Amino acid sequence: MPQNQIFDLLLRNARLRGGQTLQDIAVRQGRIAAIGPALTATAVVEEDAGGRLVLPGLVDTHIHLDKSCLLCRCRDAGGGLKGAIAAVSRLKRDFTIEDVYERGARTLERAITQGTMHMRTHVELDPLVGLRSFEAMKRLKRDYAFAIDLSICVFPQEGMTHDPAVERLLTQALAEGADLLGGCPYTDADPSLHMERIFALAVAHDVDLDFHLDFDLDPSWSHLEEICRRTMAAGWQGRVAVGHATKLAAIDDAALGRVIALLADAGVGVTALPATDLYLNGRDANHRAPRGVAPVHRLAEGGVAVSVATNNVLNPFTPFGDGSLMRMGNLYANLMHLGPESFGDCLDMISNGAARLMRITDYGIAVGGQADLIVLDADDEADAFGGIAAPLMGFKRGRKSFVRPAATLLM
Ligand SMILES: [Zn+2]
Repeated sequence: MPQNQIFDLLLRNARLRGGQTLQDIAVRQGRIAAIGPALTATAVVEEDAGGRLVLPGLVDTHIHLDKSCLLCRCRDAGGGLKGAIAAVSRLKRDFTIEDVYERGARTLERAITQGTMHMRTHVELDPLVGLRSFEAMKRLKRDYAFAIDLSICVFPQEGMTHDPAVERLLTQALAEGADLLGGCPYTDADPSLHMERIFALAVAHDVDLDFHLDFDLDPSWSHLEEICRRTMAAGWQGRVAVGHATKLAAIDDAALGRVIALLADAGVGVTALPATDLYLNGRDANHRAPRGVAPVHRLAEGGVAVSVATNNVLNPFTPFGDGSLMRMGNLYANLMHLGPESFGDCLDMISNGAARLMRITDYGIAVGGQADLIVLDADDEADAFGGIAAPLMGFKRGRKSFVRPAATLLM
């Protein structure tokens, strides 16, 4: 590095994953320009991480901002997946752009201050809500770009093939700024035609795909094999992900091994959504209730792109949530019996691995990468993950985008 350069940001004494020596991170024009111990350099803004763990901004691959924060409107959703879909369906016709924006902003701000810097939000499109939620998402994407890269995935939550208006809305949204397309074959009267049309739209608009899939614990049928087959037929390997896939929690090791090989071959990624999957699955068991969460760490061992994500926040699908991916990763590890030896792998599911699933190419703390950095209130990776450490501050493209001061005891 040339001596005495002036950088935009110098973050001193950062502890990086797997490293013993504290490092300084220098940033210019939104990108990491240099990393090294005790850099001889000056910067417009200089911060001291004080030996704390510094991670790249976290990646939430699957959330529903449009229907978050609805608890006050429907405290009794009737329980279960069908009850939750019906409850939101009743409310959706009254959604306005301002209403969706206000609730989405509340959840987005919480996620930002929990260290999330990339997010894929699913957005429902259908004749009930039209393009109003989509319009709100476009405004959120623009207004919060200083802190987070928001990717908008439009999808038909309540089916598609029964009404040609649904496909027209999806087509319009893809022409007007949607980043990618989702599908939900299990709510469609004709799941196979649903998948066929969604793939055709993705190819026509050259966008990635992210399906809601196999969201129950009945192993007697599955749409996963058809998704993999269609992915390969379309040449969309590496561009397709599925969320839930909870049936994978209900099959034995031999069957799981076959699915892992299929997913790896087809380049299809899988996202586990522990908060929702735990809350909605296994409700018919009155004892020894199953966990009902896809064992994505097993899939990762087989080379599949995987992530753990938030899904729903404070609504009938999941009446919990604060947008913290550290908490979600911690929940996943806890319910899968994963200890400190696996914490690094679990951390990957909300960072590097999640970035791979979303095809974010310049992710990570490396020279040349986008300078998205969070400073966690912990000086050790295992302590940070096990203890759900909060971020103290974050830098989006090298600019300080939030602070979250640690609690102070007044003795
Ligand atoms: Zn979802």
